Amino acid sequence: MAPFLAAASAEHLKLAHEAGADALLRRGGWIKAFRSARGEDMANREAEELKPYGIAPKFLDRAALIALEPNLSEKAIGGAHYADPLSTPDPEALAQSYAALFVNRGGRFETGDALSLEPAGAGWMVTTESGRLAASDVVIALGPWSNELARRFGLRLPFFVKRGYHMHYEAKGNAGLTRPVLDLERGYLVTPMTRGLRLTTGAEFARRDDPPSSAQLDRVEPFARELFPIGARKEPKPWLGRRPCLPDMRPVIGPFPGKPGLWLDFGHHHLGLTLGPVSGRLLAQLMTGEAPLVDPAPFRAERFGR
Ligand SMILES: Cc1cc2nc3c(=O)[nH]c(=O)nc-3n(C[C@H](O)[C@H](O)[C@H](O)COP(=O)(O)OP(=O)(O)OC[C@H]3O[C@@H](n4cnc5c(N)ncnc54)[C@H](O)[C@@H]3O)c2cc1C
Repeated sequence: MAPFLAAASAEHLKLAHEAGADALLRRGGWIKAFRSARGEDMANREAEELKPYGIAPKFLDRAALIALEPNLSEKAIGGAHYADPLSTPDPEALAQSYAALFVNRGGRFETGDALSLEPAGAGWMVTTESGRLAASDVVIALGPWSNELARRFGLRLPFFVKRGYHMHYEAKGNAGLTRPVLDLERGYLVTPMTRGLRLTTGAEFARRDDPPSSAQLDRVEPFARELFPIGARKEPKPWLGRRPCLPDMRPVIGPFPGKPGLWLDFGHHHLGLTLGPVSGRLLAQLMTGEAPLVDPAPFRAERFGR
């Protein structure tokens, strides 16, 4: 994953620039804040693991932390600042800007049930609201729903989802944050967003379509109130999302085994927004026979057997 991830920011910056959305990519990195010496040890250990990949956070004491994020309470005694990653205050607006760029360049959106996909002659056919659509090449990119369609054509993958929740909060007395901050010892993240301060929970292991549970948010919200300047909840219930996963935490990108013209691009787990553009580039390169930007072998569906 390392070379693939290393290319992700540059792809976003290029695409956002072309889409007129530079302002939706925020610099300043993110911070893993800790509350105790034990937390500092954890942050140190994680930093050690990342060293071989050329990633080195800057360690901040309380004064340096507060210089960057003055509204963190005294419970945060320091942090590890990863300065390079980008973040966005509005992933929906970012995705919409990319979609508009696609249309400006001659792309077209059609709506329909992807499960209507079927082989037709030498290619493929899908039913949309404006009729049947034929194509020589088709990509299955349905995130957490991809497995259903892949199985229809005989591909069985050890596919699962990690669910997660988020909630937006009023900022207390307009005190805000300027970048995402992780409460390392409690396992949730708070990010300044267009819609308010967003608390994002960790991974919930549940079936994709199980009813939502309030347990994750209820558990971490009191911790968040200790550390962050969050006020009232802004929505009646949390958003529930599903991260599409494979057990080796690598997406499947490449040809569908034994089905010419059918392609796969899903399973981006915690990093689908980050990896969207670079993943699209790799798949396009494989489809058109261009030299791929990274070795595609680790992403092939065949790694799980057939
Ligand atoms: C709480 C949480 C926090 C996250 N934070 C981050 C983060 O900070 N950074 C990051 O990079 N990633 C993050 N992710 C992960 C990211 O959201 C996913 O990896 C990403 O959404 C996957 O993108 P996708 O396009 O593959 O799937 P999706 O975005 O899920 O899109 C799949 C689409 O397929 C459509 N669809 C499904 N079935 C059909 C059908 N039969 N016919 C037609 N359409 C269909 C769905 O409606 C949907 O629009 C987070 C996820 C969660 C849950």
